[in-house]
Amino acid sequence: SKRIGVLGAGQLGRMLALAGYPLGQKFGFYGISQDEPSALLGHFHLHSDEADNLKALVDFADVITFESENTDLQVVREIAKTTPVYPGERSLEVAQHRGKEKSLFKEKGIPCANFAVVNSLEELQQAVNVIGVPSILKTTTEGYDGKGQFVIKTDDQVEQAWEAIGGRELILEAFVDFHRELSLVAVRNAAGEQRFYPLVQNVHHKGILRYTIAPAQQVSEMVQKQAESYISTLLEELDHVGVLTLELFETEYGLFANEMAPRVHNSGHWTIEGAQTSQFENHVRAICGLPLGSTEARQPIAAMLNIVATTGPIDKVLQMPNAHLHLYDKEERAGRKLGHITLLSDSQEALFADIKSLNAFLPL
Ligand code: ATP
Ligand code: MG
Ligand code: MG
Repeated sequence: SKRIGVLGAGQLGRMLALAGYPLGQKFGFYGISQDEPSALLGHFHLHSDEADNLKALVDFADVITFESENTDLQVVREIAKTTPVYPGERSLEVAQHRGKEKSLFKEKGIPCANFAVVNSLEELQQAVNVIGVPSILKTTTEGYDGKGQFVIKTDDQVEQAWEAIGGRELILEAFVDFHRELSLVAVRNAAGEQRFYPLVQNVHHKGILRYTIAPAQQVSEMVQKQAESYISTLLEELDHVGVLTLELFETEYGLFANEMAPRVHNSGHWTIEGAQTSQFENHVRAICGLPLGSTEARQPIAAMLNIVATTGPIDKVLQMPNAHLHLYDKEERAGRKLGHITLLSDSQEALFADIKSLNAFLPL
C-alpha cells in the first residue's frame, strides 16, 4: 500500500482516489483553487494553499501526482528533490506550454497545425501574414475548456484578437478543417510497459467537451495504430509515468495532434464503467509501480455525457438501467463541469436512442 499525494482536489483527484482505494492505497490532497469540491474522500482534507499544508502533504506521501497541467512547475521541482513525482517534471513542462508541446510534435514527426509563438501585436500581424486565416489564437499557458482563445476569421480582426487575450505570450495556430475530434488515452509505468485505450470521438460546444463516444465509430485498425505510435513516441520521449492523453483532429490528410494532457482526461471517464481497468486505476497502478490493467472495453459501445452548468433531470438518469451518474459536488455555474453520465450499450442504435432521451443534458 502506498500513500499518494495529489496536487489539486477536484473531480479528477476524487476519481483517482475512488479507483485507488480498492487497491489498498491511501490518498491525501492539496487544494489549489477555491473551486474544488468540498466533500473529498481521503486521509487528508486540505483546503488552503498554505505552505504548511503542502509540506504536510509531501511528508505524508510516498508518491506525488497532479490533477492539472497548470500545476506550478517550480513547486513540482521542489517536491521532486525529496519525493517522486509522476508524471515527471518534463511531461508537465511540455504539456503546460502549447508552444513547447507543438514544437515537440513537430520534432517527433507528429503532424499538427502550423503555429507561431508571438509576444506582441507586431509579431501577431506577421504570424497572421504567414499562417493566414482562419486561425486560432491561444494563450500559451493556463487555458482549458477553450478559455483564452480567439478565432481570427478575417485579416482585419488581428487587433481585436490581441486586445481580447494579448499582453502576454500567445500562440497562433492554423485552423484545422477536421471531420471530427478524437482522443487517445494511454498509460505507461516506470518499467516502460504501455497500454492504449481505443480511440474515442469527442464533441465540443463552445470549447467545452459535451460528449464522448467510445470507441469512436469507423476507425480503422491503421488509424488506431497510427495514434498509438504517436502517443508511444511521446511517452518514451518524456519518460512519462502515468496516464497521458493525446487530443487529435481527424482530417482528410490523416490525424493531426491538437494537444496533450499529462493526466487522466475527461474523454477517458467512460472507462470507469466501460473498460476492464479505468484510466484512474491505471494511473494509480502506473505511479505505484504496479503492472498495468487491461484497457479493453467491456461492451460494444459507450458514451459519456458531461453535465455542464446546471445539474438537470438526474432522476431520469437514475431510472436508466445502463446509465451511471457521477456528480462532483460542485456548485452550478455557467460553463462549469458538474458531473458526467456514462451510458453502456450493445449497439450504436440503442446508444443514440439513450443519448436522445437525455438531450436535456446536451446543448441546443
Ligand atoms: P481542453 O479543455 O481540452 O484542455 P483547451 O482550452 O486546452 O481545451 P484546445 O483543446 O486547444 O483548448 O481547444 C478547444 C477546442 O477548440 C478543440 O477541442 C477544438 O474543438 C477547437 N480547436 C482548438 N484548436 C483548433 C485548431 N487549431 N483548429 C480547429 N479547431 C481548434
Ligand atoms: Mg487543454
Ligand atoms: Mg483540448
